[in-house]
Amino acid sequence: MSELDINALESSLAAIKDPRTGGDLSDTATISVKSPKDGAVEAEIILGYPAAGHSAKISDEAKKILLGRPGVESAEVKVGWNVIAHTAQQNLKGMENVRNIIAVASGKGGVGKSTTAVNLALALKAEGAKAGMLDADIYGPSLPSMLGIEGNPESPDGKRLEPMEGLGLQAMSIGFLIDKDTPMVWRGPMVTQALEQLLTETNWRDLDYLVIDLPPGTGDVQLTLAQKIPVNGAVIVTTPQDIALLDASKGVKMFQKVDVPILGIVENMSLHICSKCGHEEPIFGSGGGAKMAGEYDVDLLGCLPIDVSIREQTDAGNPPVFADPDGHVAAIYRDIAVKASSKLAIQKRDFSAKFPKIVVQQK
Ligand code: ADP
Repeated sequence: MSELDINALESSLAAIKDPRTGGDLSDTATISVKSPKDGAVEAEIILGYPAAGHSAKISDEAKKILLGRPGVESAEVKVGWNVIAHTAQQNLKGMENVRNIIAVASGKGGVGKSTTAVNLALALKAEGAKAGMLDADIYGPSLPSMLGIEGNPESPDGKRLEPMEGLGLQAMSIGFLIDKDTPMVWRGPMVTQALEQLLTETNWRDLDYLVIDLPPGTGDVQLTLAQKIPVNGAVIVTTPQDIALLDASKGVKMFQKVDVPILGIVENMSLHICSKCGHEEPIFGSGGGAKMAGEYDVDLLGCLPIDVSIREQTDAGNPPVFADPDGHVAAIYRDIAVKASSKLAIQKRDFSAKFPKIVVQQK
């Protein structure tokens, strides 16, 4: 039997189309093939994004391709992932222990930004990533209740904070530090300073993704945050009606202005499905998110229906992705998470953490 051409086998896997990125598998994955004995091959595909829900499908497809190559009699394929750090906007230095930051923004309040952010973080975790959340929605911190966390963070050295934990996510929120009933009356610069502190003075532990729930709107606070925090990608949440879309388009422009890549748009409350008769009604209109995505050349990551279970479960500290990870609503959030993280994975890699610090000593 002639020897197998390992390079050709690797190339055949590299050229598999990845529907999540729209490119080749090799755009985000490292692929290696071995042939331990005649006619037998073992392949390993390490994706750049978490894909617990897709790995079996990818491995089946790869196996089929390998078995179709001349000389291959048996094939074993393992699929895993390794999330690396990517460069942030304008080469802002990334954070130690946080490989990537995803900012979730909206043009205005009440469109479901916090709900999307928390379910996105849980969906990244469900897909196999180490995820955390920073609640930067300083005027309406909802993370403590959405993750069902009570109490205050500890600070063993009196300087830095230990993240709280809820539903398997590391979490930090101004809501852990202030009295729930005290309204926040801080002005812009105080807000940005407090948020920067919460981000940089929390002892995040080895996170693939930190999801930041930004304050609603596109004013000075949001712009300053988008400039100062090393963000690898933004997700913009909108409802489908024209007025919300107009606000959301300001969000798109804001991130474009400061060179933060937009991972895509999430259209929330797309469709109302009657819980009694199943009738579908697009209360806020339909197709708005898709139209906007087309106009600004950004991706539509997914559409969530108005669903009473989303409100009840998320507000009660048991969001749908956690409550029912294999359910219909969780599947939409998980699909959004994979699309967003795979889009992030094709961006430039950040090597800065790998380089030693250069110290110049004078003699
Ligand atoms: P924002 O962060 O944009 O102000 P929230 O995420 O706090 O908005 O959502 C506002 C309210 O709408 C919350 O009570 C939330 O549970 C509810 N909500 C969000 N998305 C949906 C949805 N798709 N279906 C039903 N209720 C939703």
